[in-house]
Amino acid sequence: MPSLSYYLHKFSHLRTDRTGGWTAATRGQAPHKPILLLSVLDLFAQGRITANLIEITPELGELFASYWSKVMPLERRGNLALPFFHLRSSGFWHLLPQPGQEAALQTTHQVDTLNQLGRLTLGARLDDDLFQLLETTESRNALRTTLVQTYFAPELHSNLLALGEINLQTFVYSQHLIEQARKQVMETPGEDDAYQPAVRDQGFRKAVVRIYDHRCAFCGVRMLTTDGHTAVDAAHIIPWSRSHETVNFTVDDPHNGMALCGLCHWTFDQGLLGVSARYLVLLSGELRITQNVPGHLQTLDGRSIIGPAEKALWPHVEALVWHHQNVFRPG
Ligand SMILES: [Zn+2]
Repeated sequence: MPSLSYYLHKFSHLRTDRTGGWTAATRGQAPHKPILLLSVLDLFAQGRITANLIEITPELGELFASYWSKVMPLERRGNLALPFFHLRSSGFWHLLPQPGQEAALQTTHQVDTLNQLGRLTLGARLDDDLFQLLETTESRNALRTTLVQTYFAPELHSNLLALGEINLQTFVYSQHLIEQARKQVMETPGEDDAYQPAVRDQGFRKAVVRIYDHRCAFCGVRMLTTDGHTAVDAAHIIPWSRSHETVNFTVDDPHNGMALCGLCHWTFDQGLLGVSARYLVLLSGELRITQNVPGHLQTLDGRSIIGPAEKALWPHVEALVWHHQNVFRPG
């Protein structure tokens, strides 16, 4: 049975592109594969991979984007599809074809988009030995350290290791917020809470976008770009600045949030869209008479929001009523 040292060797000898004008930050090599593997290690640390199948999910995409932004300048976009496909040359990463795509996958040599990848594969299966190793913290830490030290400049090492820890703590905090919401417990985070500010900021967002499955509650858009960004963000129904007005819950309670895309978020914050106590989208009169409003916004009028699969996590009616009374413009 291959041991940890076998995979440490594999992880430190990935085939990477050296011709793309890569800088010293990534030791003159493309960082795609090490960043994908760091992201996969994070998913294991969060307990999010329970079967031996790595899928192309918004969570994986966002982790990939978080590492990428630490090491690459803004103008150089990442592409998650490339390492996901090309890691098959490593010997431990096995692409599983979509039914009927077995031959197509065999003969494909280049994949540029997540759509193309999704049409060809269900995801990737790891060597069973590697899968077992990744379930233990010790092996994950050893593999993580090897990736960071092999593929990145020394000045980035501590930042990259710290990011793994922040990604984990953010997940733990978001999970905590969701569990409290399920139990309808109100609990204000106290001074003694160990969560860092960066973790607190991201925790609410992570919790809300996860329970809405990364889909906009109003228009339904659900999208992952090749560089790992999704269309939605977490909107507070009662904003932070008015948090003293929340009574039976805290502002970072997922019941006080909805996943919304950029345009729907802005329109909601401006009071041009609202939500009734029966979860129907309300259109402000101002939106009806304004020119140049994208047509799809007007079609939302009277439609039910697209809430979380778990009914217990839908927005609190009190928060929606507050928004209706304080922000919404009936027009
Ligand atoms: Zn939207």
